[in-house]
Amino acid sequence: MKTPIDPAAVIAEFFDAVAPYDPQPDADPVALVGVRTALGEAVFPMTDHVIRAMCRALASYRDPEDRGSCVECGGRHLDENLHCQDCGRLHGILGQVIAEHARRVAAEDPT
Ligand SMILES: [Zn+2]
Repeated sequence: MKTPIDPAAVIAEFFDAVAPYDPQPDADPVALVGVRTALGEAVFPMTDHVIRAMCRALASYRDPEDRGSCVECGGRHLDENLHCQDCGRLHGILGQVIAEHARRVAAEDPT
């Protein structure tokens, strides 16, 4: 079971990590982000620097479940065997071998 995490603490940690590099730490915040959880409420003033840091973090983020998208249906739910959960298409070397075999069998089919 996953250990529950405190969302407000995660946000505070991100802000703390980027705040030392804010060129204008005293500038007016461009947004306020409110977080309400079972543990309580917190409001975080976001500077332009924090927003830009989030953009960079997002650009370099890749979900562990992200295995690309399906060439057949464009779905993004490939399992660890590169098997599309949406349409059933197999990807990777095994998927290619199976697809080629299926084509050969279909070509040989006299009906
Ligand atoms: Zn698919």
